Amino acid sequence: MSWLTSYVKPKLERAFSQKETPDNLWHKCQGCGELIYMKDYLAALRVCGNCNHHGRMGPKERFDALFDGSTYETLECPKVVEDPLKFRDQKRYTDRLRDARSKTGDADAGHVAVGRLGGIETVAFVENFFFMGGSMGLAVGEAFVAAADAAIARRAPLVAFVAAGGARMQEGILSLMQLPRTTVAVERMKDAGLPYIVVLTDPTTGGVTASFAMLGDVHLAEPGALIGFAGPRVIKETIRETLPDGFQRAEYLKDHGMVDKVVARGEMRATLSRLIALMTHDGAAQADLARTRAAEAETAAAAGPADETPAAEDEPRKARKAKAEKPRKTERADKTERSDRADKTDRADQAGQGDRPAAQKAGAARPAEAEPGRSDGAGDRDDPPISRAAE
Ligand SMILES: [Zn+2]
Repeated sequence: MSWLTSYVKPKLERAFSQKETPDNLWHKCQGCGELIYMKDYLAALRVCGNCNHHGRMGPKERFDALFDGSTYETLECPKVVEDPLKFRDQKRYTDRLRDARSKTGDADAGHVAVGRLGGIETVAFVENFFFMGGSMGLAVGEAFVAAADAAIARRAPLVAFVAAGGARMQEGILSLMQLPRTTVAVERMKDAGLPYIVVLTDPTTGGVTASFAMLGDVHLAEPGALIGFAGPRVIKETIRETLPDGFQRAEYLKDHGMVDKVVARGEMRATLSRLIALMTHDGAAQADLARTRAAEAETAAAAGPADETPAAEDEPRKARKAKAEKPRKTERADKTERSDRADKTDRADQAGQGDRPAAQKAGAARPAEAEPGRSDGAGDRDDPPISRAAE
């Protein structure tokens, strides 16, 4: 009997369970435990169709899903000193790095790419959680600074997809120094008057939430993402109290004002491209947007209630207005270029531009909020473009 239960039974069970769930064909959802055909799961950008659980995503998939036509150029991140402290716990830090590299095929957790998003050149930074928990060390800090530099050089917006388990403790104080470094990089983006959007993904914890992950002009989050500084288990053990339902999850943070909008992964690209079009005042993109909205409003008006009609009538006028703005935008760009040369005007210009992100946040967040009822949101765009004051 013991031979049957201790030897034959486990072996049979293993054989059957292996047959049922080969890794490459099926994915077991971590949210509901349902088995999903891997092809369907990947096509749905690692989102479970049954319970909407958003699985973790690597940088390549992220860039592919983000940029127009999945076309982009990855930027080389600067090399950093490896293992500066000659750190060793149960394992040498160099061994840990080697393992993570062979597992992911990447040099470190920070990745930067440039491509077009809704036709507008955009720089994206992605933290790879699969590389030592996305922990922020010298290399990740350097990659983020490189992303900000690339955005400033191109006068492009920056989108950061954050996923981190904390600081890279094997680099000690050098890891903590990345907090002020990345914060300065964000400040430089703001001085340049360029939009910086943060997408908080599961999990966003530790050092990044004490620096660049919480400094965006707009904060989006993926559904169910864990976002916090210390994890819930640590907090629970420290304060010895039961934590509220959904504590530190994206939806909870949205309700408490830390996140502007929780966006499903399938909607992320469209939401980001709309935000960027609004925040960069791109004339062509705005006109496209107005046309899309006009078409949507017409469809809605044709389909139903009469109160949608004024919005539809409004649209062509707005499209003309957006077109009329195009030359003005070019004028401003010229002015900015000239002012780069002349120091005095530069300072004045920057003071004006510096105000922009905050104002943009207020302006840009509204249409995004109003998104489900498109025709309601359309009225918001009657507001004058926010950067007028700077002109
Ligand atoms: Zn599920």
